[in-house]
Amino acid sequence: MIEVKGLTKRYRDVTAVADVTFTCAPGTVTGFLGPNGAGKSTTMRMICGLTPPTAGSATVKGVPYRRIANPGRHVGVLLDAAAQHSGRTGRETLALTARVLGVDAARVDRMLELVGLADKAARRRVGGYSLGMRQRLGIAQALIGDPSVLILDEPANGLDPEGIYWMRTLLRDFAARGGTVLLSSHLLREVEAVADRFVVIAGGRIVAEGAKEDLLSRH
Ligand code: ADP
Ligand code: ADP
Repeated sequence: MIEVKGLTKRYRDVTAVADVTFTCAPGTVTGFLGPNGAGKSTTMRMICGLTPPTAGSATVKGVPYRRIANPGRHVGVLLDAAAQHSGRTGRETLALTARVLGVDAARVDRMLELVGLADKAARRRVGGYSLGMRQRLGIAQALIGDPSVLILDEPANGLDPEGIYWMRTLLRDFAARGGTVLLSSHLLREVEAVADRFVVIAGGRIVAEGAKEDLLSRH
């Protein structure tokens, strides 16, 4: 469960996010849609405690993200600056995430397989990865702690159509297990098949919100 209330972020001359309120319920995938610069990343960074809000609050599973003990075991996060060192292989990267989170190392290979980076790909250095491969690895890093909440910023970026289909299956499956998913995109077509609800942001403000059927029939 993610609850965002009146989140606001002002920088010197810009209001990046203005009074944003929405809720993401367990078992649902919420698509956070808006053009570049709309305020999606800033909102997600505030939810994850990485950017302090000017006003408002956000909780994940009832508490502010920063008050969750070992948050990676509860909330899987993929933001643009994923913790991926280009000199490490995919497997080393994920093994390190597993170690930091205190996760059984046996999960590393299972997660690599789940995201389609098994074998050869996992033995290559991340520096040689395509953006799509980095996204897959980032999703594996987000999932390895077996979280019940996923917060993914533009995860479809760099994925080919097959990758987008794969991600859709994975996230639908995650939600079907009772998980809560918030994922952003600037392209409706990337998320329309995966999300059951949309929150649309433009110029830092929520401009539309609702079930897929409602929004698509109105536009
Ligand atoms: P999105 O993720 O939807 O592309 P962002 O949240 O990255 O949008 O940005 C929203 C607005 O806030 C943009 O106008 C952006 O330039 C501005 N912004 C984001 N971060 C900063 C910052 N650190 N300092 C100043 N302005 C920022
Ligand atoms: P089980 O569901 O019995 O745990 P699986 O082999 O299906 O067994 O999954 C093993 C682990 O992999 C799960 O605990 C879960 O954390 C993770 N997993 C599998 N599929 C998904 C998925 N679509 N989304 C997130 N995590 C997954």
